[in-house]
Amino acid sequence: MYLEEVKMTFIQPCTADAERIRFKAKFSIDISEILPYINSVVKDAIYNKKIQSLTIRKEFRIITIYGNDLAVSKAVNESEAYEIMDLVKDLVNNTYERKDEIEPLYEMREKPDILEVYKYLPKLNCKKCGEATCLAFSSKLLSGMQNIKKCGPIHEEDNKEKLYEVENMLQIMGYE
Ligand code: SF4
Repeated sequence: MYLEEVKMTFIQPCTADAERIRFKAKFSIDISEILPYINSVVKDAIYNKKIQSLTIRKEFRIITIYGNDLAVSKAVNESEAYEIMDLVKDLVNNTYERKDEIEPLYEMREKPDILEVYKYLPKLNCKKCGEATCLAFSSKLLSGMQNIKKCGPIHEEDNKEKLYEVENMLQIMGYE
């Protein structure tokens, strides 16, 4: 078997939705080479070649597969987390077995939407993140040149739900 083990390394309630959980799991091997093949097979996947990540949305759940590990947000509970880990393991192994019949796809089908991220930023243009405006920060976030941790205001208690939305959007693009 190509990918033999997917092992959970972290689990906790989602930041702004205690009804759901987020978790991480580690792969027993580096599966980066398979990501473009999964991108070809799963039609609504979002592949980010630059950071070698592939995100699949399953209803509200966000499943991001990296070369060595897996990050999932909005899972229902721990038993579902194990089901998702099995599902990803099967997807990787089935794709690997059929890889000679699949044309790998290296493109990102869905492009990042700067305005969609901007919508959830505090819009103070306070420059504390080092950017002149929140819009510039939004653009740099989506190109991987900025980190949401640099925006102090969005980490204030009142902005918890906005932070949650931005973190989910960044995860979809493959950023942690
Ligand atoms: S720190 Fe946050 S609120 Fe201030 S300019 Fe940067 S993105 Fe906008």
